[in-house]
Amino acid sequence: QAKHQGKNRYCFFDSNIKKIVTNRMKMERDLRDAVSGGQLFLEYQPLVELQGNRPVGFEALVRWRHPESGLINPGEFIPVAEETGLIVEIGEAVIEMACRTLARFKATPHLADLYLNVNVSSIQILSRTLDDFIRHKLDEFKITPDKLNVEITESILIEDYKAALSFVRELKSMGIKVYLDDFGTGYSSLSYLHKFPFDAIKLDRSFIIALEGPLSNQAIVESIALLANNLGIHIVAEGIETKEQLELIKKMDYSVAQGFYFSKPITDGNLLDFVQKT
Ligand code: C2E
Ligand code: MG
Ligand code: MG
Ligand code: MG
Repeated sequence: QAKHQGKNRYCFFDSNIKKIVTNRMKMERDLRDAVSGGQLFLEYQPLVELQGNRPVGFEALVRWRHPESGLINPGEFIPVAEETGLIVEIGEAVIEMACRTLARFKATPHLADLYLNVNVSSIQILSRTLDDFIRHKLDEFKITPDKLNVEITESILIEDYKAALSFVRELKSMGIKVYLDDFGTGYSSLSYLHKFPFDAIKLDRSFIIALEGPLSNQAIVESIALLANNLGIHIVAEGIETKEQLELIKKMDYSVAQGFYFSKPITDGNLLDFVQKT
């Protein structure tokens, strides 16, 4: 009996693993077609300046419209793209789409002053061709560097400190602002803040969720803003979902925030509408 069960269990896991591997291989194959087939597109989530309650920019977030499976979020396919190296190609497509959008902004009243943030993963930085690619695209689309911000995460600081530092310095010398994304989720945090010339940090959403917890959590969120501002680094709060969260961070030193409370990521065609009605 036990032996029989064991065998069944083995078969169960075996068929599950087979399914995972098959799905994974299919996603890799499909992802290759996604870039060339124009299946990737961007949505944009507003960054809101708290004092004036108005959008000052948008974060560009990549989406995949799969021909059979429909909409796939980056959380599902970015890890696969990173492991296969396809992220380099996808990242270039993202930069190109962002520059195209910025060129349109430039020619549109109400949108002309807004900036775009793009996310960049460590594999892209390690490829060491990204800075040149960005320079080339800004030039091609006649975008000034103050309109494109680049978000990197703490993981690159740990994986390859030197490569990260030279990437950040290169972007800075081009006049591009660099944001440290998901701040507080990695191991590094505080010591990197004065070693890297970041223009801004984005406090991770998990800290905002924690505001509902013990009062000491509020002290942490407040202290991070004070620290950043004392170092001359802007601070953005991510993942604001409620009026209560907004009121709390407004009382602290946060100048810009992002989250579902203001807006979920929106499509290209709705950008002007959104900006005009706020
Ligand atoms: P991220 O850069 O931290 O982007 C913020 C994510 O949080 C987005 O998810 C956004 O939709 C979500 N979000 C924003 N406000 C709220 C909120 O109030 N509540 C909740 N629950 N979520 C909120 P999304 O679009 O699924 O992106 C997930 C991650 O995928 C991004 O996290 C980023 O790390 C990565 N990603 C997205 N686009 C790109 C890209 O073009 N290139 C690279 N390398 N990574 C990307
Ligand atoms: Mg980001
Ligand atoms: Mg983030
Ligand atoms: Mg995050």
